[in-house]
Amino acid sequence: MPHRYTCPDCSISGAVHASRRGAERDQDAHRQTVHGGMSPPSGDRIGYAPPSSRGPVIAIGVFVLLILIRQLTGVAPDDVARWLGLI
Ligand SMILES: [Zn+2]
Repeated sequence: MPHRYTCPDCSISGAVHASRRGAERDQDAHRQTVHGGMSPPSGDRIGYAPPSSRGPVIAIGVFVLLILIRQLTGVAPDDVARWLGLI
């Protein structure tokens, strides 16, 4: 589940990490470099970060590209997999 570190005192948010541990590393680094190793006066938090909405758009784009390649060349992904000996 993706997590992100946020410091309201500095009005910043860290990168989205696949696990809570990654966001905790951002928290430790931010506290050390900006707040002298202490927690910010207003507190900080690690919360759930919803996944990007670009994922489904990218999947649809790849699917459309595969259909175009199949229509233009007659070569389908399963043909390539057979040629490579994967199936
Ligand atoms: Zn801060």
